[in-house]
Amino acid sequence: MASIEAQSRRLARFPRPMKITLATATMSPEGWREALAHAFAAAGLDVELHAWDGRPTGATYAVVWLPPAELFAAEPGLRAVFNLGAGVDALLARDVVPAGLPIVRLVDAGMATKIAEYVCFALARITRGLDRFAPAPHGSRGWQAASSREEPPRVGVLGLGAMGLAILEAAARFGYPVAGWSRRPRRIAGVETFADSAGLEPFLGRTEVLVNALPLTGETRDLLDRHAFARMPRGAHVINVGRGGTIVDEDLLAALDEGRLASATLDVFRVEPLPAEHPFWSHPKVTVTPHLAAPTPHGPAAGQIAAALAQLEKGVPAHELPGYVDRAVGY
Ligand code: NDP
Repeated sequence: MASIEAQSRRLARFPRPMKITLATATMSPEGWREALAHAFAAAGLDVELHAWDGRPTGATYAVVWLPPAELFAAEPGLRAVFNLGAGVDALLARDVVPAGLPIVRLVDAGMATKIAEYVCFALARITRGLDRFAPAPHGSRGWQAASSREEPPRVGVLGLGAMGLAILEAAARFGYPVAGWSRRPRRIAGVETFADSAGLEPFLGRTEVLVNALPLTGETRDLLDRHAFARMPRGAHVINVGRGGTIVDEDLLAALDEGRLASATLDVFRVEPLPAEHPFWSHPKVTVTPHLAAPTPHGPAAGQIAAALAQLEKGVPAHELPGYVDRAVGY
């Protein structure tokens, strides 16, 4: 009996159908609307989904990418916000989500394998010296014999979340000696681990290919500057799939020009899209790609949001969900 009363109280708190507002800013809402509707139905959730058009709908949840401040003023009944991405730096920087309103982000949702694939391609390009072959000099046929180093370079991954771990696993499978750095100490079989500021120097000192998979926070902003590059072995390489704000662009360019670093493969930038006048575009040791290392797949992402929403509806506290964002640390 008590449980029926508890259930009725819960149902009274959560009127049916649940109203969800979808604010996707630069992302097209159509694909998301379809994927979310499908995922909510599959999870047995009774949901009315509205694309945000500036008018309040009495929503209890918001699914967002770079939402406008007005949304939160217009929808005071929100109980949680779902971020359509793994990184929440842009959302937190806007400072539009009211304090105390839980934010839940995507965890992996199909992105980890893709980011690992991107990094492994960049590793293959470095170790095989692929840049010597493309584009082929006009009219030339045949290749110059080239010696390549037998020992695979030591790979170091900054960040041991879903992305960092997938990158480490993939690199290790291809025989690279791997190490990782995180905020809190971690133990991972077969991986040399380092933590916190005390662990950064020895981590950088052993790392010949540095892969950044950190979230952008107050602590990770500008982390990779001239001092960090100076601690790495001469001729090391940098791959950035985390966020552009972690690298100090001028210091990276200086380290490349001095020969301290051999190459940089950059998928993310301080300003995106990368401005036309930025020196990265024309630097011979820099490869730029337009934030495509791991596109967010609609189906798995929507499924994860539906599963999290179902948990919340069952009374699971938001801070127990896998993608709960701890705003105090910024990720
Ligand atoms: P997680 O939150 O799961 O993991 C973050 C990792 O970074 C954790 O290991 C954490 O340490 C570590 N970390 C955070 N702050 C610090 C710090 N100050 N010092 C040392 N380590 C720190 O994130 P994900 O793996 O899901 O994603 C990481 C980032 O990748 C995203 O925030 C996003 O910016 C980027 N990304 C890029 C994509 C692309 O297409 N280029 C696609 C998807 C994500 P601890 O384990 O101790 O908490």
